[in-house]
Amino acid sequence: MISGWAGVPDADSMQLTSRVCQRLEGWLRGKNTPTPEDLGRELRTFVHESVHLRGIVDEGVTDCTALSLIPGIARLNFRVRSAKVLRAVVQAAWAEHYGNGAAYGGSC
Ligand SMILES: [Zn+2]
Repeated sequence: MISGWAGVPDADSMQLTSRVCQRLEGWLRGKNTPTPEDLGRELRTFVHESVHLRGIVDEGVTDCTALSLIPGIARLNFRVRSAKVLRAVVQAAWAEHYGNGAAYGGSC
């Protein structure tokens, strides 16, 4: 299932499903209480598409770059303070990565 999309290499915007946006906003606003696993999955989509907006086309490079950025973004932008919660967020993001097939594999 596609959760987000950014036309590359010349895109300047992305499209995300309402589920992705609602969960990210819900986490930020403290409403609808998305789980850390929800945050990890949706952050992976959001950051992945954001990396595409840098002009990176290769899905593997994009996904590996996104995965490397997620812990910092979770801490700084989504106020994840607990190591236990951060671990759950990161594990969920990696599970999404592994579930997306070989094209997303990259070298991470
Ligand atoms: Zn992609």
